[in-house]
Amino acid sequence: MAETKKIQPDLSFIRGLMEAGGDTVNKCYQCATCTVVCPLSTEERAFPRKEMLWAQWGLASKIAGDADVWLCHQCGDCSAYCPRDAKPGDVLGAIRLNAIKYYAEPKALADMLSNKAGVLGTVIAAFVIWYIVAFLWSLHTGEGFPFPEGTVAYHKILTFVPIDIVVLPIVGLVLWASYKGITSFWSDIAKASGVVSYTGTAPKPAIGPLFKKYVIPAVQEILEHKRFEECGETKERAKGHKLLLWSFIMLFIVTGVVFIINDVIFVPFLHKHFTPMPLWNPIKIFANIAAVMLIVGIWMIFQMRKQKTAEGVLKSSEQDWILIWLIFAVGITGVLAELLRLMNIAGLAYPVYILHLATVVTLFLAVPYSKFAHLLYRTTAYVYQRYEDDMKAGKAGFGMEKEVLPVGPPSDEAESAEDEEKKEETKE
Ligand code: SF4
Ligand code: SF4
Repeated sequence: MAETKKIQPDLSFIRGLMEAGGDTVNKCYQCATCTVVCPLSTEERAFPRKEMLWAQWGLASKIAGDADVWLCHQCGDCSAYCPRDAKPGDVLGAIRLNAIKYYAEPKALADMLSNKAGVLGTVIAAFVIWYIVAFLWSLHTGEGFPFPEGTVAYHKILTFVPIDIVVLPIVGLVLWASYKGITSFWSDIAKASGVVSYTGTAPKPAIGPLFKKYVIPAVQEILEHKRFEECGETKERAKGHKLLLWSFIMLFIVTGVVFIINDVIFVPFLHKHFTPMPLWNPIKIFANIAAVMLIVGIWMIFQMRKQKTAEGVLKSSEQDWILIWLIFAVGITGVLAELLRLMNIAGLAYPVYILHLATVVTLFLAVPYSKFAHLLYRTTAYVYQRYEDDMKAGKAGFGMEKEVLPVGPPSDEAESAEDEEKKEETKE
């Protein structure tokens, strides 16, 4: 008699899914149209039909180990064709939001940064903390508070020393939480796939070859937005997303370069500040181009999301809008702070600058705890997909001279063929 397996649905998972915007999941009757029309689903990695079934049954652990959820870009093509209006694209979006909370540590931060009140509260708290730090710093420097004397220059209110004292612990927390999330996710998907290479490297490959062979090509693919651009219904969203991603990279480069020039060279050795830079400075031009790209990119995403939500192609959760508004706030306060400084309006410039710092810190803190974490998990899924494909094909040799054997023990046939070959060679 066949063995009976009892399925235990995780009701809290289903509840969380419904709350995150996956409330249409039960409409699905498994026709598989979604998987057929999805431009990103392949024969080897077919989705989202199976995820709809697992979600209906509350199979939380199955979903946690499913990298395919992160290969979806919520283009909405499947939702447009679903005969039951089960909105599989949105259900996958809700699954991803739940996964972010699932992997977040501490979870309280994910709860706080996934709702409007929590994010607003964080921005306000950061604003107040920055002002307290600026006040304490003014006691040390003797500059006027809250409006230093003379021409507006932001280093008069906060130099890199107090900024680093506040920011570095947050950077540490974000890096630690990101590392924990990525490694737990990797371990879940590796366990669930059950694919183990005979090199013995899976599921923990060596870091160097992992980067060279899988991470770098995956990141290249993400930077080019190749898969995102395959989407049909919301194709335009890929353009805004690409602009935004590149603007973040450019701003990250600017921050690093200015940190080295100002904080490492100018202030300690030349005893003067490199900032504010004149508008013609190439670094400033580069930064301003990035700021414009950020605002245009997020505006395009906002418009597309609004339009597609109105058309019913896409559902937008509270978390989607929070991230959009937060990025907007970072861009707008950054540009305003620069303009107000150039106009030398101290009464507005300093508060706007402090608000800019508050939004930047909140956005950065949100990286592992909010929808922003898709950056971490989608990249990991892209990397894992390549790694797993290679393992299945017996190519995950990590720089070994010979290709490793395919997954599974060598067949008798393969062994005898190899023996024959050796015999032939010996004869020769
Ligand atoms: S989500 Fe819609 S298209 Fe996909 S299997 Fe279910 S009913 Fe069919
Ligand atoms: S939303 Fe787009 S990428 Fe995601 S499953 Fe549907 S068709 Fe595929």
